[in-house]
Amino acid sequence: MSETVDYKQKIEDIVTSQLARIEAMKSDSDFDDFQSLDKIVIGLIGGDGIGPLIMEPTYAILFQLLEDEVKSGKVEFKKIDGLTIENRAMAGKAIPDAVFEQIKSCNVLLKGPTTTPRKGDKWGNIESANVAMRKGLDLFGNVRPITIPEEGIDWTFFRENTECLYALGSQGVNVTDDLAIDFRVITTQGTERIAKMAFDYAKANGKKRVSIVTKANIVKATDGKFLEVCKRVGEDYPGIEVDDWYIDIMTANLVDKNIRNQFQVFILPNLYGDIITDEAAQIQGGVGTAGSANLGKHYAMFEAVHGTAPRLIADGLSDYANPCSLLRAAAMMLSHIGFQEQADKLNGALDFCTEQDKEVVMDGTGNGATRDEFVEYLCENLF
Ligand code: NAD
Repeated sequence: MSETVDYKQKIEDIVTSQLARIEAMKSDSDFDDFQSLDKIVIGLIGGDGIGPLIMEPTYAILFQLLEDEVKSGKVEFKKIDGLTIENRAMAGKAIPDAVFEQIKSCNVLLKGPTTTPRKGDKWGNIESANVAMRKGLDLFGNVRPITIPEEGIDWTFFRENTECLYALGSQGVNVTDDLAIDFRVITTQGTERIAKMAFDYAKANGKKRVSIVTKANIVKATDGKFLEVCKRVGEDYPGIEVDDWYIDIMTANLVDKNIRNQFQVFILPNLYGDIITDEAAQIQGGVGTAGSANLGKHYAMFEAVHGTAPRLIADGLSDYANPCSLLRAAAMMLSHIGFQEQADKLNGALDFCTEQDKEVVMDGTGNGATRDEFVEYLCENLF
């Protein structure tokens, strides 16, 4: 028998908290300027599974790139060890309080993947650490770039990070033993800020096309609002073509080689964005190749798009876990906090070392190069 609740009270509580969230968004200030800070504190969170293994070389390379800034006191690295599934399960919280305090004492974070327990497994019903961090630090913009130069593909996905089905994912109700209901939230303010982030990016980077992806023909209230607000924001950006697509055909478009390189910038609600960016990463060469940024006005968190890779570890292949995803995320972080030259250096070395027909190739299996071999090769080309 599932536990049943007073669903009317639950719905009222959800509505009250979401209306309060809207008021907070209305009164929030502008983006912090990281370069104007005397010191930028970068938090490093290893996470679970392959997380600490790919964090170690990423930190070593970041330290090398920012050595002068660390010496001058402009940059400080802070290692945050407590965000593991063991600690989280012990505390019964997505992010234990003491760990969240350490996280909030940083300006930006680089994070390895963290385990999200499945229903019924030994860790209990703990919310995803990522969802909790995105909500707690209001990291509303999930930005995921995908490039395949030889095909002319240069996509940037702007996935809304704090709403949709994920915002209330652990607050669904079992109304009776036979009826379960989850809740989906889309707000005008939440959509405006992700749309503005996407259009500002398009304008600043000479992109001419922004594609809005929903299922607004079926999911009329929430996706309908998302589409309408994005289109309205787009009216302030003359010269940028705005089109809209349904999520089902867009997933097909991305595997259509005849048209896929014509897309440039995408805006999506949370769930569709989560799914389609894994598809896009796979097209680029695998989830081990893609990084992502979670941006808010006061904090930013950068991470690989993939998870903890438990199967890779179970198969004894942890030496083959690809660090490129986290290194790409580190390059996005360098760019976000104003160290563009170092970001270009890292991206340039990654582009060079992952081109086809190179002598050191990681393919995530025991047939390819190990992580140590790849990192050594990367460092030789980091100039
Ligand atoms: P996964 O991303 O961990 O693995 C999917 C596949 O990709 C596996 O075959 C894995 O071996 C491979 N893979 C992933 N990263 C790789 C890398 N760097 N190099 C080579 N191969 C790599 O997805 P999953 O198995 O569905 O999830 C495992 C755990 O990770 C779950 O607990 C899930 O909740 C969590 N997760 C966390 C995040 C995050 O913290 N951002 C994201 C996704 C999943």
